[in-house]
Amino acid sequence: MIPITTLAGKRVAVFGLGGSGLSTASALAAGSADVLVWDDNDGRVKAAEDAGLKAQNLRHVDFSTLDALVLAPGVPLTHPQPHWTVDLANAAGVEIIGDIELFCRERAALAPGCPFVAITGTNGKSTTTALIAHILKQADRSVEMGGNIGTAILSLKSAAPGRIHVVECSSYQIDLAPSLAPSVGILLNISPDHLDRHGTIENYAAIKARLITNSDAAIVGTDDRFSAKVADNVEASSRELTRIGIRNPVSRGLMLRAGWLLETVDGTEQKLFALNKAPNLRGAHNAQNAAAAFAACRYCGLKDAEIVSGLESFPGLVHRMETIAQEGRVRLVNDTKATNADAAERALLSFDHIYWIAGGVPKSGGIAGLADHFPRIAKAYLIGEARDEFAATLNGYVPAELFDSLEEATAAAIKDARNDTAADITVLLSPACASFDQFSNFEQRGEAFRAAVFSNLSRNEMHGDQS
Ligand code: ADP
Repeated sequence: MIPITTLAGKRVAVFGLGGSGLSTASALAAGSADVLVWDDNDGRVKAAEDAGLKAQNLRHVDFSTLDALVLAPGVPLTHPQPHWTVDLANAAGVEIIGDIELFCRERAALAPGCPFVAITGTNGKSTTTALIAHILKQADRSVEMGGNIGTAILSLKSAAPGRIHVVECSSYQIDLAPSLAPSVGILLNISPDHLDRHGTIENYAAIKARLITNSDAAIVGTDDRFSAKVADNVEASSRELTRIGIRNPVSRGLMLRAGWLLETVDGTEQKLFALNKAPNLRGAHNAQNAAAAFAACRYCGLKDAEIVSGLESFPGLVHRMETIAQEGRVRLVNDTKATNADAAERALLSFDHIYWIAGGVPKSGGIAGLADHFPRIAKAYLIGEARDEFAATLNGYVPAELFDSLEEATAAAIKDARNDTAADITVLLSPACASFDQFSNFEQRGEAFRAAVFSNLSRNEMHGDQS
């Protein structure tokens, strides 16, 4: 845990008592703040009390007595409307911050300049964060990985010389971290997502860009126009910048050509890494993640050979294009983490003959933007709130069938795939949707898919890659 000493003796309210909220409250208490905790959910309040925290209904607290309100990232700050605690804090002029902000202040006070790699982007954050941590660990560096992935940031060890913090940051967390200033900031990409929480794509892009604004070195994927603009701004401020161009080549930076990651500097090119040597970084999107990790590990002082060895041995993450079984010519792939069309597009581009299971709670624009890839889809199996909308988009291009449950969709897809004579077939769950109409989260959806796959395959025919 990282005791937060910068608010010692201050009165701090923590609202939102999921994993990161509880971790934040404990870290503040360990640093001698006077901490009040609350949540709209009674069960969470009870769990916090059981953990020894002081629960107090913040509706009955005079906000002018507070020094700060610390919000869990899931609590709306601005859109669709500010949470009631936000209104009370604003009315009393109390600052509203999050756990990443507390980490940044603690680092600035106790260990300024300690290596801190922060990663954001619409897609690829977790993969890139895990990949960087893996490469650094393989090279015997001391690494603390967390934030929006795995461990809450304040449950990690404190910043200290020689210890590298590798932290995934969501847009919600950046929004609550005004003094975010990592030594290495990575912005992978920006495409429409979470607009219910950020209003407009411009506002969402501006929040994402703030991770880079004060970083010592910036690494930016410049394939989309919003991120390309952010890179131009970094360049204009004469700070260290590495551009990553996967779809659009760059004149200076890292790019992909013919399966190679290249470094290009005004016409001179150097081959860095053959991506087919990294079995768990399949697809062009993973080239973007690998390039960002390459650049970040260089900034952390690793030699290219150490980075190459870490890329090759990366085991991959569950729920992201995870091959869970292979039955003869049929590969079964769990990409439940693809909660928007942009992420699902990466998976569709990675295979040729696809039985596609999709649907859930759709994002704005649905799957209309995936039309170029419809020829790769043999048939679609649609579930959840999005199923009618997706069926309408696919109509006339891809045969589609509607199902009430993921289990039924999976059984039908496997049956059809078995009857197909193509040489290489993929049954792919890549929903292009959030999961919460039928599941608690994307992980639960992935586990349901795994269970459905395994109950449909006969045991002696299965060869699971990772279970
Ligand atoms: P995040 O943490 O940003 O949600 P993940 O690394 O968990 O990202 O990957 C989520 C999904 O997004 C993956 O299943 C993959 O299909 C897709 N994806 C991964 N990296 C990228 C990328 N760089 N660009 C676009 N899509 C990506």
